[in-house]
Amino acid sequence: MAKIAQQYIDIAKKRNPGEVEFHQTIEEVLTSLEPVLQAHPEYVESGLIERLIEPERQIMFRVAWVDDKGKTQVNRGFRVQFNSALGPYKGGCRFHPSVYLGIIKFLGFEQIFKNSLTGLPIGGGKGGSDFDPKGKSDNEIMRFCQAFMTELSKYIGADTDVPAGDIGVGGREIGFMFGQYKRLTNKFEGVLTGKGIGWGGSLARTEATGFGTVYYTREMLKANGKDFKGKTVVVSGAGNVAQYAVVKAQEYGANVVTLSDSKGYVYDANGIDAALWIKIKTANNDARVAEYAAQKPGAKFVPVGEGRIWDVKCDVALPCATQNELLIDDAKKLHANGCIAVAEGANMPCSNEAVTYMIENKMLVGPAKAVNAGGVAVSALEMSQNSQRLEWTFEEVDSKLDAIMTNIFKVSDEAAKAYGMPGNYVAGANIAGFLKVAKAMMAQGIL
Ligand code: NDP
Repeated sequence: MAKIAQQYIDIAKKRNPGEVEFHQTIEEVLTSLEPVLQAHPEYVESGLIERLIEPERQIMFRVAWVDDKGKTQVNRGFRVQFNSALGPYKGGCRFHPSVYLGIIKFLGFEQIFKNSLTGLPIGGGKGGSDFDPKGKSDNEIMRFCQAFMTELSKYIGADTDVPAGDIGVGGREIGFMFGQYKRLTNKFEGVLTGKGIGWGGSLARTEATGFGTVYYTREMLKANGKDFKGKTVVVSGAGNVAQYAVVKAQEYGANVVTLSDSKGYVYDANGIDAALWIKIKTANNDARVAEYAAQKPGAKFVPVGEGRIWDVKCDVALPCATQNELLIDDAKKLHANGCIAVAEGANMPCSNEAVTYMIENKMLVGPAKAVNAGGVAVSALEMSQNSQRLEWTFEEVDSKLDAIMTNIFKVSDEAAKAYGMPGNYVAGANIAGFLKVAKAMMAQGIL
């Protein structure tokens, strides 16, 4: 029973009513920190956990912009600057109609530990808007991004807070936001990451989260005497993370058989043709995976409501779409079908119940804050290149990414063992990520 942690979980729920995703991550992280809190009474005495679960700063603002028909549209913008113990706030921006404060806080809280695990000097933050980029023209996207940045620019900076992309925010949006920041401040600085190559972006940033997901999973499999070769892999999502997870898993000899979006999934027994999907998506950013099935002989589209992607028999599952896409019944199905490992490419794709079930049933579970840390790790490498006014080669960045992901698995594995939970990589990542932040917070006084 998580006796010490429970009181903080209760505080978080009471102070943040209705923010269910935030409650979910608080519960998941704090429960696994119980043995650490028992071993370190000084953290309790200094109110460290109460401080950790309260963002340092939360900004909410109006974003008014004019659509192509001349009509005024009003969205809501967010930036939650959660914790700066380890460095400037760092974390992406999400543009999706489901965005509200609870989603941004869950993502921001996760980001603190994820960034800590990378070993790089970055604090945790997250932002976004309930703006829906789907169906908008490039000009509408530009006007929205400029309006969003006009307010956000007051709170960010290369040494203060460095946003990046997330769902709905890719290279196009980062470009428009960077341009507006430059116009407003008269500074060409590394204030955003995920920039274009040639104007401050890092090679391998586009691939980083998907590649990193597979590097971490490779290490998890290796520690348990297994590898990707010949394994059937189910990947959900079809965006940035999913695309490059498919590419790297295939490089390691896996047969990846699915992709998905919010309308359904495609099953391609012969192996997803990643190049074909990236071509379709590059030609039309709003393209649906159903179009892949229409173009690829032998591939089948299964619409939402007619089957779950997790019903597809596989050895390894990589959920790379969105939060709470893999629930308890899905976990049971994966287990019954012989799946040995699940690694979270997306943020919090598995419910807490599903994670507990999979760990209890001896499946290997790689948690998001470790598995998908490759994106922010390469973002931090982009910041280093910007500060030095240098550009590293693809191979240099990719090899640093591989080393970082390998180390994240190692420190998580060691922390799980040190606190009596060998093989529980979820607890291990939480503990390893937390300890570094806690030490820095203790050293910096009560803030
Ligand atoms: P994208 O916007 O590029 O892609 C998201 C994909 O997930 C789309 O194909 C989308 O489909 C699909 N999706 C969204 N909601 C659902 C749903 N309910 N059911 C099925 N599919 C869905 O985002 P990213 O690839 O960048 O991000 C994916 C996840 O990875 C997110 O959780 C994000 O926070 C996380 N992440 C991303 C990082 C990055 O570097 N990009 C870094 C670390 C984590 P549709 O178009 O139909 O909505």
